[in-house]
Amino acid sequence: MGENCIVSLKDIVVDFDGEVVLDGINLDIHDKEFVTLLGPSGCGKTTTLRIIGGFVEPASGDVFFDGKRINEMPPYKRPLNTVFQRYALFPHLNVFENIAFGLRLQKVPEKEVAQRVAEMLELVNLKGFDKRGVNQLSGGQQQRVAIARALVNHPRLLLLDEPLGALDLKLRKGMQIELKRIQQSLDITFVYVTHDQEEALTMSDTVVVMKDGHIQQIGTPQDIYNEPKNAFVADFIGESNILDGVMHKDFVVEFAGRKFDCVDKGFEKMENVDVVIRPEDIKVVPAIAGQLSGRVESVIFKGVHYEMVVESAGFSWIIHSTQSQEPGSSIGMNIDPFDIHIMHKMEEER
Ligand code: ATP
Repeated sequence: MGENCIVSLKDIVVDFDGEVVLDGINLDIHDKEFVTLLGPSGCGKTTTLRIIGGFVEPASGDVFFDGKRINEMPPYKRPLNTVFQRYALFPHLNVFENIAFGLRLQKVPEKEVAQRVAEMLELVNLKGFDKRGVNQLSGGQQQRVAIARALVNHPRLLLLDEPLGALDLKLRKGMQIELKRIQQSLDITFVYVTHDQEEALTMSDTVVVMKDGHIQQIGTPQDIYNEPKNAFVADFIGESNILDGVMHKDFVVEFAGRKFDCVDKGFEKMENVDVVIRPEDIKVVPAIAGQLSGRVESVIFKGVHYEMVVESAGFSWIIHSTQSQEPGSSIGMNIDPFDIHIMHKMEEER
């Protein structure tokens, strides 16, 4: 277990009726960190969150909180709270009473309830909304109430399961920034589940990329984006061209029917590899005989760039360029050796 860990998962296996949905999860979550579990639908993000919350029991493996094993500790005793996508506010209670609910259960004195609810209303920017019925609030405002309710008893850890999933894109972007601000101002640990890569990159200190019940990579948003460990992570984090390649020797890789200089070394001689090239890293140049070139199949205007599909060497390349090209025209494609990312094939493909 690393230093300063609030939660540690060790070799967690979860099996639902013979189907293994988490297959040996090892994860250290540090105090005051914003950690995001990211991956496609069904990869096991929610199940991982529920293991931490105590709502799911692992078939094997251990859960530690502050270094103490807590496998058998019931959810309500764990020093954490959860915010779900469906915020489940009490419809018959006003905003104040929704937020105060947990404090009332704990029989906190009335004066302190009023003070703590007021602090929370300020934190989530809902000052003056205390007497409103929750049905008179927008979706975004309701979600703020849910967050305030989950934070009012000062948990050390907040679990958030796609909390912005029901909001429209604009509101979601605003709330992403709000959530990050709230987490930083309270100095508590957030574990956040999403399948939206942009959301993960925007908010997190650490991103955990998952696939089929396995962790693929753990790193900062910059690490995950710039140094993806395999083709799955590269593709999930940003659209990529992924080609089959062969590593001839250090610094020489073959793909698309030709050899290229690259900056990678340490692969086995003639190892089959994945070659990952980002659409923005392919420069469109005049077509020259003997150089990599292709035929423009389609061009779509995307606002900041044009997205082109280009056929070359039996592969449909995606290229982002600030200049449009005529569909049907021939273009040359220039790739800097530093932008050719070589990765070992994923285990199941070897
Ligand atoms: P999503 O983004 O769609 O919510 P997820 O990554 O959070 O997906 P999980 O909800 O953790 O995925 O589910 C992982 C797998 O476990 C899925 O195949 C799901 O069908 C299965 N699963 C989840 N909960 C149960 C359950 N209570 N009983 C049986 N199978 C379950």
